[in-house]
Amino acid sequence: MPRIGHRRNDPTDVKVFILNPEGNYLTAAPDGLRFTPDRSRALIFDFRADQVAEQLREIQTVHGLVLRAEPVPLAEIYETCDRCKELFMPFMTFFDGKRFLCADCRRLVAGSRETKTGRKISGKPC
Ligand SMILES: [Zn+2]
Repeated sequence: MPRIGHRRNDPTDVKVFILNPEGNYLTAAPDGLRFTPDRSRALIFDFRADQVAEQLREIQTVHGLVLRAEPVPLAEIYETCDRCKELFMPFMTFFDGKRFLCADCRRLVAGSRETKTGRKISGKPC
């Protein structure tokens, strides 16, 4: 049964690609769904929220097409903070023009120097 109002971006859910037997990735094209060897264009599904296992079983039953799900490598989902090298969800990182920073590093960097325009962005007195 589909869950009503399931949460997207559930951090415990697994992000997956869908692959056909030839190892090509499911992607969206203007004329519908297709398979492509180009992983950068692959659709990414939430394994549980999108009921991937159930969908793949149904496709196999109805179309006789055996597809499989492959987890997306963590490094392709998360952004790496360029300062502390930890992984963060993309919405938790900030791009300062040169680097991706997590909230903590952004605060540290902001507190230790002035911005390019010369204005202090930290709460420290001038
Ligand atoms: Zn950091």
